Amino acid sequence: MLVVMHSHATPEQVDQVLDAIRRMNLTPHPMPGATRTAIGITGNIGAVDPRSLEVLPGVNELIRVTKPFKLASREMHEADTFIRLPQTVIGPGTFTLIAGPCSVENEAMIQKTAEFLVGQGVKLMRAGAFKPRTSPYAFQGMGKEGLEILARVRRSTGIGIVTELMDTDNADAVEEAADIIQIGTRNMQNFSLLRRVSRATKPVLLKRGMSATLEEWLMAAEYVMAGGNYNVILCERGVRTFSDHSRNTLDLSVIPPARKLSHLPILVDPSHGTGRRDFVPPMALASLAAGADGLLLEVHPDPDRALSDGAQSLDFAGLERLVESLKQLAVPLGRSLA
Ligand code: PEP
Ligand code: MN
Repeated sequence: MLVVMHSHATPEQVDQVLDAIRRMNLTPHPMPGATRTAIGITGNIGAVDPRSLEVLPGVNELIRVTKPFKLASREMHEADTFIRLPQTVIGPGTFTLIAGPCSVENEAMIQKTAEFLVGQGVKLMRAGAFKPRTSPYAFQGMGKEGLEILARVRRSTGIGIVTELMDTDNADAVEEAADIIQIGTRNMQNFSLLRRVSRATKPVLLKRGMSATLEEWLMAAEYVMAGGNYNVILCERGVRTFSDHSRNTLDLSVIPPARKLSHLPILVDPSHGTGRRDFVPPMALASLAAGADGLLLEVHPDPDRALSDGAQSLDFAGLERLVESLKQLAVPLGRSLA
């Protein structure tokens, strides 16, 4: 249910409605707009009885939200969401590049990558300190030491940090180090983890589960938003199909329906989506053309010696060429790189 206040409703009248919703044991989500405030209601198992709310002063109308994802839906929040970070803004109009190695391997390669990215105008660096690996014998990431490296390089270069949180145990440390907390494909439906980041003070980059439908993905976003963290970024990273010519099948066709149903920004990860560095540039350009708000890209100073995902990582020259092509394609599309 969405309560739409009159444009002339006073702050006291808005507060009265918030209190009334809380008295019904429901959760109000105030959404101040340019002309009027709307209040989303969540927490109800069945339909909300609108009568006690529609009579309150300042209330204009009550709208039933039909989709199972409420806060993530355009029905409840029509305008696009922009994610405001200290380094940049993510959302329609611009095209945000988040680039960096799959894993933090040591301080020198993180420092070198960050300096290179800053020189390319890239404001956000990805790098995992905690790595979800298929094999227990593969490099699992540097853990807390990796987070400390990221924090130092953030301080020395000014680059924003995007890094993965795998479990609730490390949530405080990752939340502290990250500008954006990444939730990986394998954890998209880890509901206790989603509940934890719903209380985080940092935005969440929510990767699509490798077999998740659009509705399941948006319901995962809803978990984060229901707890009060409205800063969610969706990231398409490829799904499992019968195709074996690439690591995953990058589902760019999810972008138009995701945009229609939800106001959340949508990024694409063509590195995990294809699994091969020579397939990354065409799919990166296709993502821009398909209406994505940016990319998550794996870039490594020496991809052939990377401890994880080297085959799908661009080298610095490859990223430079891709940035140039993206800039050229952005012009006719009326977009600019952020
Ligand atoms: C990653 O970004 O390095 C990663 C592990 O991604 P995903 O969760 O999409 O596999
Ligand atoms: Mn990776």
